[in-house]
Amino acid sequence: MQKKIPLNKTKLEELARRFGTPFYIYDESGIRETVRHLNNAFSVFPRFFEHFAVKALPNPAVLRIMREEGAGADCSSLPELLLAERAGIKGEEIMFTSNDTPSAEFIKAAQMGALINLDDITHIEFLENALGGKLPEILSFRYNPGNKKMGNTIIGNPVEAKYGLTEKQIIEGYSVLKQKGVKRFALHTMVASNELNADYHIETGRLLFELAVKIKNECNINLEFINLGGGAGIPYTDGQKALNINFLAAELKKLYNSIIVPAGLDGMGIRTEWGRIITGPYGWLVSRAIHQKKIYRNYIGLDASMADLMRPAIYGAFHHISIAGKEDAPPEEVYDIVGSLCENNDKFAVQRPLPKINTGEQTGDLVIIHDAGAHGRAMGFNYNGKLRAGELLLHPDGSVTEIRRRESIEDYFATLV
Ligand SMILES: *Cc1c(COP(=O)(O)O)cnc(C)c1O
Repeated sequence: MQKKIPLNKTKLEELARRFGTPFYIYDESGIRETVRHLNNAFSVFPRFFEHFAVKALPNPAVLRIMREEGAGADCSSLPELLLAERAGIKGEEIMFTSNDTPSAEFIKAAQMGALINLDDITHIEFLENALGGKLPEILSFRYNPGNKKMGNTIIGNPVEAKYGLTEKQIIEGYSVLKQKGVKRFALHTMVASNELNADYHIETGRLLFELAVKIKNECNINLEFINLGGGAGIPYTDGQKALNINFLAAELKKLYNSIIVPAGLDGMGIRTEWGRIITGPYGWLVSRAIHQKKIYRNYIGLDASMADLMRPAIYGAFHHISIAGKEDAPPEEVYDIVGSLCENNDKFAVQRPLPKINTGEQTGDLVIIHDAGAHGRAMGFNYNGKLRAGELLLHPDGSVTEIRRRESIEDYFATLV
């Protein structure tokens, strides 16, 4: 499978002239189609709702697309709540899944009428105090299954994960909420990240469905919905296969029919808070190859750095790379593709076979880093005085708008006193 950016070299060079390089660009059509596909596949469940994980691509222009497609937001901080608000996402369209949360953030979430997902048993009292003694009408708990579930590489083993409540605490927690007058209840978990194996997500569903039945039996509570969390993977490398969303939804529905329905919980809603799978494949970091050096290895230096996209450096993550106009050229060279940080892990690719790359500030090739639409620009930073790239949005009619300008020296100095 050949990964493609929906823009040819001429168009990319035009954007480079207009906005400078490097820049991120996102494909609105791809994002919309994926939300529609998800909503359609999961329409087998009552009241399915996707809360897009804002942290994956925190830009109101993208959040507005979610709202238009009938999705909401999953926020984890006060600024993310404000981003959702800015995009017109309201009330229970927002799930507030935070941890180690300051009271100001709980207060804002409650004021907005967001669904608050508690990360610990002690947060019941903490929230109650923050809200002046009155809990919201609906609350959710984040479940940590401990050794009932093996984690995956990015998120780690649940036993070692700081998130969520144990099963025992969950059961106790709902009883406490009930005593305190809470009327509606939900359950959430998030135990994987970038997981391509459908079985893993299906087993997570089973775990939650079984817990929902236990909660009904022991607390006499009919959960209003279960939130399956995020963590759906995307194929970054050629050999990987995309998650089959229709298959996943259908298999989960079978479990729902065999566990939830017989327990008298039919009608219980299903929610997700997927981030990566919605925008990841529809974002590209476009940069220019400005230098080439040949020492023990052959290096291509870009005008982007790991300050723009840190996944390769921190996870050793693979991102497909193509060269504008050379999509079909044979891989004649082997390069390390690097940025300018004083860190030797600032490499977008290591020993990668690629077509011959021309370098130069004006005439160098445009180097495109694929699958950068989630946890890309959002994880950027300013180390080494690097200024982060801006963001562009490619509309279905082919026009392009700037949805975040690149950072300036003034931005870098703005917090100095
Ligand atoms: C990161 C995160 C998500 C989104 O994860 P993806 O891997 O982008 O789908 C959803 N929910 C919570 C609580 C998260 O921390």
